[in-house]
Amino acid sequence: MFRLFRREPSPNVSSDHIDVVHEGACYRVLLKRVPTARRFTLRVRNATRDIVITMPKRGSIVSARDFAQRHAAWIAARLHRLPQAVPFEPGAVFPLRGEEITITHIEKLRGGIEVVVEERLFKVSCNRQHLSRRIHDYLKQEAQRELEGAVRRHCTTLGFAPRKVTVRDTTSRWGSCSASGALNFSWRLIMAPPSVLDYLAAHEVAHLVHMNHSEEFWTVAKKLAPHTDHAEAWLFAHGSKLHRFGASS
Ligand SMILES: [Zn+2]
Repeated sequence: MFRLFRREPSPNVSSDHIDVVHEGACYRVLLKRVPTARRFTLRVRNATRDIVITMPKRGSIVSARDFAQRHAAWIAARLHRLPQAVPFEPGAVFPLRGEEITITHIEKLRGGIEVVVEERLFKVSCNRQHLSRRIHDYLKQEAQRELEGAVRRHCTTLGFAPRKVTVRDTTSRWGSCSASGALNFSWRLIMAPPSVLDYLAAHEVAHLVHMNHSEEFWTVAKKLAPHTDHAEAWLFAHGSKLHRFGASS
């Protein structure tokens, strides 16, 4: 009999998530097993809008689901408080290099994406269902190109060879510098004012000299980017809002 209670129900249960229902809405909760976890903890990640349960390595999915279901109202309230998602679709407005631009879907435009900044229009031609993907790809390419340029420039100033630059959709940090000197950035920096993107490149290049945030580090960073304080303040005030663009609602 005991085994019966232990057996985990199969509907709506997989090893990596559970679904929680609250007032007619269904929420997907990701399960994350952590060997050091002693209890269940629930959080909503602002950047990704994911709901995550951290659970002990041997915790049961049934208990995880009970826990999540008991906190379903809290999950709903937390998601409700997040800035509204702005999916990439016709008519949506998002920032590109710090300037608001409106997505326009054009059926007949050839060659894919045309950006007309003067008119504040982001003209995209592709199959409607690929629109969001195409815009993501375009923005990542632009971010890659501009971050590579900025990194090259700052490396030259310091007498370093240019470093390998990769862009990803990072959520916890805007940029990072590995021990081997590879630099990684969030592609979302292409949405920020150019001075902010430039500052992040300078910041990570400065880590090639000092792998810490010591006073010496900030001296190098500010030498490369005199607008460091201003850019830091901008990121503090507006950075987290960049994650809502292109997110699904
Ligand atoms: Zn740093």
